[in-house]
Amino acid sequence: MLWMIPGRRLLKEHDCTLIEIKQEIPGFDHFIGSWVYRGNINLVVDVGPANSAGKLIEALMKMNMERVDYILLTHIHIDHAGGLAEFLEHFPMARVVCHDKGIRHLVDPSKLWEGSQKVLGEIAEAFGPPEGVKEKMCIPHTQAQAHMKNLVVIETPGHAPHHLSFSYGKNLFAGEAGGNYFPVRDMDYLRPATPPRFFLKDFLESVDKLMALGDQRICYAHFGDAPNSRQMLKRFRAQILRWKQVIQKEMSPGSNDLVMRCVDSLLEKDHDLKAFRYMDPDTQKRERFFMANSVRGYIGFLQDA
Ligand SMILES: [Zn+2]
Repeated sequence: MLWMIPGRRLLKEHDCTLIEIKQEIPGFDHFIGSWVYRGNINLVVDVGPANSAGKLIEALMKMNMERVDYILLTHIHIDHAGGLAEFLEHFPMARVVCHDKGIRHLVDPSKLWEGSQKVLGEIAEAFGPPEGVKEKMCIPHTQAQAHMKNLVVIETPGHAPHHLSFSYGKNLFAGEAGGNYFPVRDMDYLRPATPPRFFLKDFLESVDKLMALGDQRICYAHFGDAPNSRQMLKRFRAQILRWKQVIQKEMSPGSNDLVMRCVDSLLEKDHDLKAFRYMDPDTQKRERFFMANSVRGYIGFLQDA
């Protein structure tokens, strides 16, 4: 488990580290970041929100990272791709690998911003509105291998319809396809990120695709890593099915406060969430917010089923 505080450490060759991009939102410490790989080619996986793009650029400068060859986008949500336009101004030689169906939203992010405001409310305002980027800066994911022959691109729809995962140099950049995973004191915490619209089958198929790869280090967007991807994904797969059971049980007709009751029930029954009780109140508030969103995904899915 490691992340780095900007400016504290220089990357070695072939090093791959998570840089935290500090947010000005209570409870959002150690939650938003970019994975940075330095080798023959330099990679940055996700660039964080628009409002904090300057902080990421500054952190990379302090690491003497003067060249970024590729930005790999796991998905286009504003906490992952919002800072792209400013980032590309500072690293104009960098090219952006993105799902081919997501590129138009990078070029014109107006709909993406509208949707983000609806779902995230004041969190979206804190992240800031993304600006458009030139289409010629983007490489459709289907063509990425022609640029980087050692890059494995895996389509992992679920958290978002155009979510991608990447394997490079024995690192599996899973974005949110393997959930959110981070340390809490001497424990760890694993939570599904399944906002509406959530489709269980697609989600599980994506997890299975990642499990079928060789065992490697798994790098989570939110927020940390683990040395053994297969074991972590197996654990996550079981949790996805556990949530279905718990939520299904709570769904009796005419019940009030269904979402919050499901969140409470999951916190009580899911051992992978056990570390919740040791989080500070602001972090708990953030986690409740995102859990509620994930639960809404499940409820929508189960109502349609
Ligand atoms: Zn995210």
